[in-house]
Amino acid sequence: MRKQIAAANWKMNLTLQQAEALVDELLATPFSLNENQQAVFGVPFPYLIAIHNKFIGKNNCYVSAQNCYTKKSGAYTGETSVEMLTSIGITYVIIGHSERREFFNESNAMLAEKINCCLSNNLKPIFCCGEPLQIREAESQNSFVETQLKESLFHLTVEQITNFIIAYEPIWAIGTGKTASNEQAQQMHKHIRTVLANNYGLDVANTISILYGGSVKATNAGDIFAQPDVDGGLVGGASLVAADFAVIINSLKK
Ligand code: PEP
Repeated sequence: MRKQIAAANWKMNLTLQQAEALVDELLATPFSLNENQQAVFGVPFPYLIAIHNKFIGKNNCYVSAQNCYTKKSGAYTGETSVEMLTSIGITYVIIGHSERREFFNESNAMLAEKINCCLSNNLKPIFCCGEPLQIREAESQNSFVETQLKESLFHLTVEQITNFIIAYEPIWAIGTGKTASNEQAQQMHKHIRTVLANNYGLDVANTISILYGGSVKATNAGDIFAQPDVDGGLVGGASLVAADFAVIINSLKK
């Protein structure tokens, strides 16, 4: 069975003190993860070490960066390399979030470079894709997402893409309170898996966890995660409330 994953994206929120208090509260809240389930916390750069330390010894909990740079090292003031992240014990990084694509002009080609850097350093990318509202309204979402996958991922080998994590996040559902319906989520997740199967074979496509993101809440996570091709969620707003995120973790498929 594919890994079932509840991934938090804290974005540019919280002070260090608030972030530590959030984790303390979450760890004091009943939630459980079996060996096939994971909770991943996408934390701002300055808090990575502190939050990573809080999860040491907590089974199946991991800390993720929210971004990394395309180059290994050098004169790139203000950037963070993959090697820096792995040197502090970080295992995941969110790549290609729609906010980075929109506000920082990250292209599919640039994301391909970032993914190459991650994979050559054993850092696991959580690769985000998803269409804006006008593409959904024009009913072109399938080809839009397929192009994102092709241009950023399809140079990878079978070994590299096996056990990959993809997050489908329709942009019109992020931070808007407007969740994709269960049917819309399942339809796109199945489409993504079919596109992966066409390139890498069904066996490989069936190893890839595809998370849904876009206004996942404690109240809707169970229904969305129950969809056959949805393997958990990437969660923004609701991951900032310990009790809500605990419910979301507990909503993962067993
Ligand atoms: C996100 O940040 O990736 C996200 C899905 O945000 P929200 O859950 O707030 O819509």
